[in-house]
Amino acid sequence: MKLICQIFIINRLYSNLNIRCNGKYLKSTLALGQDPIIKNEYFLIHFSSVNKTGTKYRVKNIKQVFVKYLSEGKATLRFEEPPHDLCIKGETIQLKCFMRLLKSCVSGDTKERHLPNLSNISVTTKESVPTKLIINDRSEFPSKGLPRTLETLHIVGLKLCNFRREILLLKHLVVLDLSNNEIETIPAEFGRMPSLCELHLANNKLGVNGKIDWRWLFGPQLIKMLKLLDLSGNNLKYLPKCIWKLQKLITLKLDDNMLNQLPATLGRINSLRYLTISKNMLSSLPCSLLQCHLEYIDLSSNNFHHNNITSQLQRNLYKYYVGSLVHLSSEIVLRNKFFYASNLIPWTLVQFLDDANMCVCGAPVVNNKFYVNNKFELKDLFRVVVFDNNRNSTVDFECYYCYKCCRR
Ligand SMILES: [Zn+2]
Repeated sequence: MKLICQIFIINRLYSNLNIRCNGKYLKSTLALGQDPIIKNEYFLIHFSSVNKTGTKYRVKNIKQVFVKYLSEGKATLRFEEPPHDLCIKGETIQLKCFMRLLKSCVSGDTKERHLPNLSNISVTTKESVPTKLIINDRSEFPSKGLPRTLETLHIVGLKLCNFRREILLLKHLVVLDLSNNEIETIPAEFGRMPSLCELHLANNKLGVNGKIDWRWLFGPQLIKMLKLLDLSGNNLKYLPKCIWKLQKLITLKLDDNMLNQLPATLGRINSLRYLTISKNMLSSLPCSLLQCHLEYIDLSSNNFHHNNITSQLQRNLYKYYVGSLVHLSSEIVLRNKFFYASNLIPWTLVQFLDDANMCVCGAPVVNNKFYVNNKFELKDLFRVVVFDNNRNSTVDFECYYCYKCCRR
């Protein structure tokens, strides 16, 4: 039996001598076979990209097997001789099968199983696991289901109405492209995809029904990994305020929707560098965006320059204003960027914190009744600005102020 996996070898000899090994996980094949001459003598052979001939380990020499994290697709084999620890990462079900077979070899209970002779074991390049799949036609779906080893999956332009739940099983998936389909909802479990960094959902129908269940976007695993999100062309009328939770997000594409406002919480995403919001209905931007170090922003074809919103700021607002306890403590939470969610604090407080704005200085503003629209030249703020032709790139920002000194 062969297991396609990733293996990191720790040589205990080195660690005993305090020599640091700078190894890493390598794409590997681990094969289990029996000696052609001696009965009940089994071997493991480890092939990797740097070790094509393979290293042989006698199963008898296994000193210890660590399977505490087997359900996460991890196991470690410790050999007496050579003093190696093989740290294995692989697809959970395959790894479990392999470990079960290995166990029967150790215990000598292999009557029912046919293991190949050691001399017959070799690794061919064809065995490299499928990591990328592009499906351009419904007939191209693999009959056995999507390979669990996929890292990149494109299912584009098939007019799929339903999200395919088998995608939820792809724990190694890094890039998912479902553009140009007709998907309206995504299951909340999607938020548990552990490796997903790029999600392309352009030209689907997420916003068609108005109210959107966004739980899939804010699952505990996804928020820690997602770097690119493309929601262009989805009839979106609003963005969720908790979008700030995507703290690794670098690229956000929102073109061709029906947005007339961006949540102020967008500016809390420190990592954001590329933002495209062309073809929407925006007439102003939240001043929190001033805190983002955007390298690229596309604001073309919106409704800037058409608004006449009057200032709602009262001149004497800051006189003797003392915040309530909720206000003061909320400011602490926001200033220190503490993570919060409805499983940690009451839902009403979550809403209160999500509603908070940001002063032009970057400080939180929870007393958000008063703001003034100020014009800013975008080219002074961001490196590349794409804007309508023949217009200066001065747009209105909804500005909040934490203290009167912040108002220049
Ligand atoms: Zn301020």
